[in-house]
Amino acid sequence: MTWAPACDTSLRFEGAVLIDGSGAPPVPNATVITDEHGRISYAGSAAEAPATSEAVVIDVTGHTLLPGFFDCHVHMAMTPGRRLTEGLGADPVVDVFATAGRLRETLHAGVTTVRDLGGTPAGFRTAIEQGLIEGPRLQVAVKVIGHTGGHADCSLPSGINAAPWLTELADTPDQVRVAARRMLRDGADVIKVCATGGMGSPHDDPDDEGLTIEEMRAAVTEGRRHRGRKVAAHAQGAAGIRNALLSGVTSVEHAYGITDELCDLARQQDAFLVPTLATAFRPLDPAAMPEYHYRKKSRWAGVTKENIARAISHGVKIAVGTDAGVTPHGFNLRELSYLVELGMEPMAAIVAGTRTSAELLGLADTLGTVEAGKIADLVVVAGDPLADISLLGRPQSVVLVAQAGVVRKNLL
Ligand SMILES: [Zn+2]
Repeated sequence: MTWAPACDTSLRFEGAVLIDGSGAPPVPNATVITDEHGRISYAGSAAEAPATSEAVVIDVTGHTLLPGFFDCHVHMAMTPGRRLTEGLGADPVVDVFATAGRLRETLHAGVTTVRDLGGTPAGFRTAIEQGLIEGPRLQVAVKVIGHTGGHADCSLPSGINAAPWLTELADTPDQVRVAARRMLRDGADVIKVCATGGMGSPHDDPDDEGLTIEEMRAAVTEGRRHRGRKVAAHAQGAAGIRNALLSGVTSVEHAYGITDELCDLARQQDAFLVPTLATAFRPLDPAAMPEYHYRKKSRWAGVTKENIARAISHGVKIAVGTDAGVTPHGFNLRELSYLVELGMEPMAAIVAGTRTSAELLGLADTLGTVEAGKIADLVVVAGDPLADISLLGRPQSVVLVAQAGVVRKNLL
């Protein structure tokens, strides 16, 4: 990634409890120093911290300092609750500004890196890199590859495609290969495929299979040929989760119908799950969604909680993603509370949202933990998230956000 932040100040954070994202025990009274290139030069106990002459000192006594968080499944350009047909009448200029606002809101929620799995053009990534707007570091899929009549097909009965900005249809391995090439041409960092139907799509069901193993394999091969780009598979029902895993995708998104056997397969394949629990925990309002969507959601919410709790206890690698855009933007770290509610330890949930997510995005060499040499993406939270994990999901508790050594939010 060509992330080149403007940073010319060294920062020295003093007095916080440090949770470094590696799963190591918290360090009380820690000092974290960043250099003028936006890198961490020291993270550890205050007693061993080197002296600095030029650094700006930020007193964070009584707070907790953590790595910048990740959300590995967002749709920044989507307006939660907007029906497909409403999107047809929306003003694209207004929508661009709305997306820019959400990017800033997401950053201020403590999320310094996101992976956008459909609907957001690569230009937003460029605009952030160039400093035109503020937002999390972005990886984008651009559009979603799926088969005719499947989850990515937003055709209305009139024949009009209600979401040309999202839809990339392909029905054979060769067509998937070409579709993947189009996405890579358009700047995709990751390829998104549909292995099953979904909740919000009118034509199908989560248990329906989407692209075949051979079709998804074509996307995996094409990504590998192109700077090792990874494939993320939307997969909800068990049959499609199996197909996705056997095709060699890097991550299974949603995974609501995962079974014991598929947990084992995920571990064998070294795949990540991104369970997007926000979709299952959000209260449903039948008046605010189409009838088919409400019906599918109410049937799947309970099953999802049971199955993801099982995946957690099986030790499958879990990264954090919310499906923000389908769920509300700007409350991304509520997802950690949901993971804890399903049996994950608070420290493990923090690792899922930092180090493990950085691994999924291929960024673990430079991000995901607070340690010397890494990029200084830092979050300061008022209070102790190990005692109350829900603090992280409240943007007002996230009192400071720094990205590559640049303070982007400061409520101190
Ligand atoms: Zn999604």
